[in-house]
Amino acid sequence: CGIVGYVGSAEPSDRAQGVIMGGLARLEYRGYDSAGIALVGSGGDRVAVAKKAGKLERLAKAIAEQPLPAATAAIGHTRWATHGAPTDVNAHPHLAAGGRLAIIHNGIIENHGALRDELAATGIDFLSDTDTEVAGHLLASFVMGGMGLADAMRAVAGRLEGAFTLLAVDALDPRTVVGARRNSPLVVGLGDGENFLGSDVVAFIEHTRSALELGQDEVVEITPDSVIVTDAKGAVVEREPYAIDWDA
Ligand code: GLU
Repeated sequence: CGIVGYVGSAEPSDRAQGVIMGGLARLEYRGYDSAGIALVGSGGDRVAVAKKAGKLERLAKAIAEQPLPAATAAIGHTRWATHGAPTDVNAHPHLAAGGRLAIIHNGIIENHGALRDELAATGIDFLSDTDTEVAGHLLASFVMGGMGLADAMRAVAGRLEGAFTLLAVDALDPRTVVGARRNSPLVVGLGDGENFLGSDVVAFIEHTRSALELGQDEVVEITPDSVIVTDAKGAVVEREPYAIDWDA
């Protein structure tokens, strides 16, 4: 339903978490039944995740009780359940590759049943009832096969039918967030030494007024100091930023 992504410096250490939680609060107006956040950058080979069914306050409370580590990159999601009940387990982000990767998704993956069968046949255990989780395990299969995160995301998009905005992070690549979209919006916010992603500019409007929109079937890779947009074939797409000239 609502999506936020962030990549920047490790100082201050709670910047990534603050940007994501603030962005999710800004996106609350869209309605949702669950919320979650994933962070990378504190070392180690696993993503840190907190997710809860219910209001954003429940997630904030869980984080206050069990603080999340410092981070350089993070993704956050508010869910409006379409496949699987609104429970903690079905809330996004979803983990894959033994917790190395985390993914969030807006929309509906129409061919999730066939993909689930295909992945289950390779020995993958599914933890949730969502359509989204197939995208995470597909991403893992491409990353484990040696692809970089952006190429793997493009390969995932190539296997999916339906509507999606997807963002993913990799614990082993804590300076990067990747995204892809089809029939569902994704906007990039351009910062100074940091960059943002959102399903809507309100997700990051407090932090930057410079944005660029992603076209259909495009993939984006953001680091603290670069934004690379590519098309479905992997060719670089040049996009001019525009100024957000209204107040949220
Ligand atoms: N179809 C996904 C789910 O049910 C995403 C729903 C959404 O857009 O929030 O988990």
